[in-house]
Amino acid sequence: MKYISTRGDAAPRGFSEILLEGLAPDGGLYLPTHYPKIDTATLARWRDLTYAELAFEILALYIADIPHADLKRLVSQTYTEQVFGTREITPLKKLEDGLYLEALSNGPTLAFKDMAMQLLGALFEYELARRGQTLNILGATSGDTGSAAEYAMRGKQGVKVFMLSPHGRMSPFQQAQMFSLQDANIHNIAVEGVFDDCQDIVKAVSNDLAFKRRWKIGTVNSINWARLLAQVVYYFAGYFQATKNNDERVSFAVPSGNFGNICAGHVARMMGLPIERLVLATNENNVLDEFFRTGTYRARGSAETHETSSPSMDISKASNFERFVFDLLGRDAARTRALFADELAKTGRFTLTREEFARIAEYGFVSGSSTHADRLATIRDTAQRCGTVIDTHTADGLKVAREHRDAGVPMIVLETALPAKFSATIVEALGREPERPAALQGIERLPKRFEVMRVDAQAVKDYIARHG
Ligand SMILES: *Cc1c(COP(=O)(O)O)cnc(C)c1O
Repeated sequence: MKYISTRGDAAPRGFSEILLEGLAPDGGLYLPTHYPKIDTATLARWRDLTYAELAFEILALYIADIPHADLKRLVSQTYTEQVFGTREITPLKKLEDGLYLEALSNGPTLAFKDMAMQLLGALFEYELARRGQTLNILGATSGDTGSAAEYAMRGKQGVKVFMLSPHGRMSPFQQAQMFSLQDANIHNIAVEGVFDDCQDIVKAVSNDLAFKRRWKIGTVNSINWARLLAQVVYYFAGYFQATKNNDERVSFAVPSGNFGNICAGHVARMMGLPIERLVLATNENNVLDEFFRTGTYRARGSAETHETSSPSMDISKASNFERFVFDLLGRDAARTRALFADELAKTGRFTLTREEFARIAEYGFVSGSSTHADRLATIRDTAQRCGTVIDTHTADGLKVAREHRDAGVPMIVLETALPAKFSATIVEALGREPERPAALQGIERLPKRFEVMRVDAQAVKDYIARHG
């Protein structure tokens, strides 16, 4: 399997070539040259596999340049009951007849990003050792991504993490999660500014190409193809748990921000997994809902980006979205480039033609959005009627899922975080604190290890030069 860019650079690259990279050189995103089709015999065989075995089968279709014995070992060391809490890894929970939650948030940081990031940690360590290289990962986080990256990379050979976060602005729980890590290769930098300041510093450092090369600066952002690929697995695992045989179809509802999670669902569907609908749910930041309803994609400025109670979905543009548009346009790279590199870059928006928009139905996508009041009502209703406390992001997904049910088709809502991570809104909805997994009781009292810094890219560079 080889990889190409959505903007026309057709030089074929292997998986391990793109593993450590971000954007393609032409500014596009990497995609496989084609999606392997899963026939019914294969699907039937996969039904009985463990999660790790299933992950290996799927990844092996896309990874030709890592010996499969090595890949199998990396995957089986990653998806363990010890790390993800259950033998199923992503167990299904029935809310009512035909309506399920798929738990993706029982990893170390209680959010679905662990599903991919844990594997990424193993793949990075493997690939760097094979090349005899090292990598300094530089990132900015307001919570979920940074902690998932740190828990994936902690203790890994050849990798150091430098994670910037806005000083004093993360929840006490999030701060405790990140800052309590004592691993020598993890560096938390608390910047005396807001999240955008952190992101600007990352950009400034990355734009200094000499520094970037000298210190081997890399990222683990959500456009990484390996992350997306790892997420394809739980669509298959959810399907097998919700159905008895492969004639049945299911729908998935996905709380969405950067379009990474649901893009993996799109890939699973392109491979032939019998998915009826992919239900995209947004919060008040409804860039994507607007697109799927109208065919117009309009990126927002920071002034128009709302801070909501499902903060991991507070995005102004969706960084993985170009992948789906490329497929929707019949993989026409020239048209994709015209929309993203020309129109969007110049005017902040683009609109599909009527024929292009009409094709969306063939891909199974529908959408909806929710508000803070919707989240509170959904959390309350689910606690009362189903006896289950869900987090705010999952509540966005469940609210929109209920608007797109088809008779006879099970609906699987992806649970993207545990309520313990967003306790303030749970208290607002239910009048009580959510339960916290035993391993995380009292983490706020653990010793913290972090460096406070002014908004100053040079200071961050100096720090990396001392510790990288
Ligand atoms: C990152 C995140 C999302 C959004 O996922 P995308 O892949 O960016 O669409 C939703 N919920 C939670 C809890 C997250 O951490």
